[in-house]
Amino acid sequence: MTKLANYTQGQWQEGKGPGSTLYDPVLGTELATVSADGLDMAACYDWARKHGGTALRALSYAERADLLKQIVQVLQNNRDKYYDISLQNSGTVQNDTAVDVDGAVYTLSYYAKLGGKITGRHLRLDGEPESLARDNVFASQHIHVPSRGVALLINAFNFPAWGLWEKAAPALLSGVPIVVKPASATAWLTHEMVKDVIEAGILPDGALNIVCGRPEGMLEALNGLDMVSFTGSADTAATLRGHPRLLHDGVRFNAETDSVNSAILGTDKDDAAADLLVREVVRELTIKSGQKCTAIRRIFVPEARYESVAGAIAAKLKTITVGDPRNPDVRMGSLVSLQQQKAIVSGIEQLAAHSDVLFDGRKETTIQAQAGNACVAPMLFGVKNPDTHKLVHEVEVFGPVATLIPYRDAEHAFELARRGMGSLVASVYSDDPEFMALAAARLAESHGRVHLVDSAVAKAQTGHGNAMPQSNHGGPGRAGGGEELGGLRALKFYHRTAAVQGSPDILDRLAGA
Ligand code: NAP
Repeated sequence: MTKLANYTQGQWQEGKGPGSTLYDPVLGTELATVSADGLDMAACYDWARKHGGTALRALSYAERADLLKQIVQVLQNNRDKYYDISLQNSGTVQNDTAVDVDGAVYTLSYYAKLGGKITGRHLRLDGEPESLARDNVFASQHIHVPSRGVALLINAFNFPAWGLWEKAAPALLSGVPIVVKPASATAWLTHEMVKDVIEAGILPDGALNIVCGRPEGMLEALNGLDMVSFTGSADTAATLRGHPRLLHDGVRFNAETDSVNSAILGTDKDDAAADLLVREVVRELTIKSGQKCTAIRRIFVPEARYESVAGAIAAKLKTITVGDPRNPDVRMGSLVSLQQQKAIVSGIEQLAAHSDVLFDGRKETTIQAQAGNACVAPMLFGVKNPDTHKLVHEVEVFGPVATLIPYRDAEHAFELARRGMGSLVASVYSDDPEFMALAAARLAESHGRVHLVDSAVAKAQTGHGNAMPQSNHGGPGRAGGGEELGGLRALKFYHRTAAVQGSPDILDRLAGA
């Protein structure tokens, strides 16, 4: 069986020992192993900073944007291979693979285009100079300069392609070398993409590195000018945050973690908005079997709409075929592993013990796959006492599971959404513009993104769960407190900000420096 090698210090190196095994979650076959045992992480980071960082920073933003463009070409040329790997290792149907693979290529292309428009060569100005003295003889100009550290990118299992490139694109565009650590269970796709890009010889030596598995000293070997961009569970984020390199030495840390996201139906009299909400809820429940950090977990509807919305969602869920993604009739594939299946089944049992069951996939869905598969059928719960029901606002069941919740009035809905204590996204469905504007103002404080859908944008809207590179991705509190994407905002994490104080004549020269 193939052992996925690690790429550090300009060479491929196999980890020692047996490592851990990657499986096909539907057929149960063993696909590859990963191990990072024996890697020298201090040497890996030194090499990346010294060779990769120096070479990247010697280029302008536009030149680095051109490198991203070349990476896009390589990924597009190998797209079919990536779809095949995803089918085997993630158990996803083609439409779901597209969210990961094509989403990655789109994000990278977006940053290639955006970077091509940055005029500065080696730094970016932040705003205009501000006078510090009478007659403006002395002033202050803020600048952003690329960090000289290395960026460690730690990713979750659910987006092995997008998770890599949505972090790598702004880092490389900023001139910062990266070390990617994919989640072990689905490392194959990340590994293959990195291998293709390295073999294409696009990036300078040391700019792109990959470690698969859990290398010893991964955090220990970082220094105070390095960065860690993490995606995964809140528990792992908490463990990493407590490491002395972060806590004491000031390694910069961005976390994208769990989230109990909301969809809220307005108080509209007609059915148009309800239809839009139902369609989106079913999409979110079933795409990637609900294994999306942005997936809708809580659905808030006016009390009078509770029964009708429950019936409409259940009717659509009944038509979803779940099973082996190789079967063309199957619309929803598998969870990523048997381990995840066990966790999701336990989460479902926990919710079932404290909620009404409005759609029970365990009884109403036949799974079309051989025995031993990691599939889970969709579930819709209902909670009529959301003010006192703690579980529904706290537990993220990372699968095809959501809960319908009635609200009394608009302020009650917003208050309940806030009980998620910080989420990635809330979507709102209404044709009442005043309700929509109020929702945006009320929800923005506790959500990284507010997605407003009325009949006029029904076709053009980009979807509740899609993290578009133009918009911020991240959320406060429980969602990790991080910020990613959002156009050029993403570059800030990989730059250092300084105030330069001097004469206006010198400050004028900074732009061309
Ligand atoms: P996880 O168990 O926290 O793992 C995430 C990553 O951290 C993996 O690469 C994992 O490596 C690594 N890791 C785990 N423990 C570590 C440790 N002690 N030291 C160093 N690295 C460690 O999360 P997951 O199960 O992969 O992903 C599911 C979770 O991610 C869900 O809660 C979901 O909400 C969240 N998520 C959030 C976002 C977002 O953008 N907010 C996106 C996707 C997923 P190994 O795989 O080798 O253990």
